[in-house]
Amino acid sequence: MGAKQGETINFNAGPAKIPEAVMEKAQRELINYAGTGVSILEMSHRCAEFDNVIKGCERLLREEMNIPGDYDVIFMQGGATGQFAAVPMNLAALSRKKVQPCADYAVTGSWSEKAFKEAEKYLNVVKINSPVKPYVSVNDPATWTRDTDAAYLHYCSNETINGIEMREVPETLPGVPIVADVSSNILSRPFDVSKHGIVYGGTQKNLGAAGLTIVVVQKDLIGHENKMTPSVFSYSTMSKNNSIYNTPNCFGIYLTKLVLEWIKETGVNALFDRNETKSTMIYDLIDSSDGFYSRPAGNDVLEKKFLICALARGMIGLKGHRSVGGIRASLYNAVTLEETEVLADYMKEFMADYYDRQ
Ligand SMILES: *Cc1c(COP(=O)(O)O)cnc(C)c1O
Repeated sequence: MGAKQGETINFNAGPAKIPEAVMEKAQRELINYAGTGVSILEMSHRCAEFDNVIKGCERLLREEMNIPGDYDVIFMQGGATGQFAAVPMNLAALSRKKVQPCADYAVTGSWSEKAFKEAEKYLNVVKINSPVKPYVSVNDPATWTRDTDAAYLHYCSNETINGIEMREVPETLPGVPIVADVSSNILSRPFDVSKHGIVYGGTQKNLGAAGLTIVVVQKDLIGHENKMTPSVFSYSTMSKNNSIYNTPNCFGIYLTKLVLEWIKETGVNALFDRNETKSTMIYDLIDSSDGFYSRPAGNDVLEKKFLICALARGMIGLKGHRSVGGIRASLYNAVTLEETEVLADYMKEFMADYYDRQ
């Protein structure tokens, strides 16, 4: 306790670091938004000021993600986990099997496994890629089985728990839309929305605060929802009402707009280059450590020491996910090159101190 701002380096997996410039702007505007005399937290979601915020947020998102005109952008709540249910509820009817609709799932880690389990409640789901735990690699998408009757093919573009990123959009069969959970790498690199039917993600990793979910849907896929679908999860209800069918996460939308302005200043390509430099710095160090650092991690005692000493130097959030343990550094857009260098230097020093005592 007692840490000062600027002395802590935040490697949290999510909610995660938000750019300092964004936090400062939000702080300056918090009590009196745009000369209205009230906070963004206190105003109607149907007033003109908020209308500007939500439209501005959508415009920036379309610009930065290159979203084609035949897609709707919907702001929802319920997180990516909510979409694990919303996707099958909205798309099951597209399966060519009408009595027992089905969908294809590529399971490459804990999140896509969770998506698969949730979807089982609504349709027949198939794991198409013969996943092998602990999910440290993915077999070639060319070898995946695919069903022409599937309502859609679901995959996760980046698995944060086990650490697998799908760099290429998997191929799909004609007439089977691809759905991607992009929660943890949205706008961290160039990404082709146009190859997808739906792209969704929570904003708490790369795009702001927790509690807002962005869903980008090809317009053709809207309007097929199962009649039991809750209104707040229905793409057609939410889209028809411009995401304010009910009270949205107003502050989350405002903060995401600020993060998008910050992303626009640098540009996604430049952010991607910087992210590559950051991750290469850490992966090269791991791979050249003669097994001292391994993937996945494996020495409990040293791991504990590593985390304690890191904390003493102001580095937080390095503990692996509770389900897999180990060490994890999340290097989202907001984590700077300099902060990543501090981690790399620390890893080198720690190895020098403990190499002989493994
Ligand atoms: C963090 C994360 C989730 C979980 O999101 P919630 O907003 O907590 O539901 C799902 N998928 C991926 C890929 C994630 O990184």
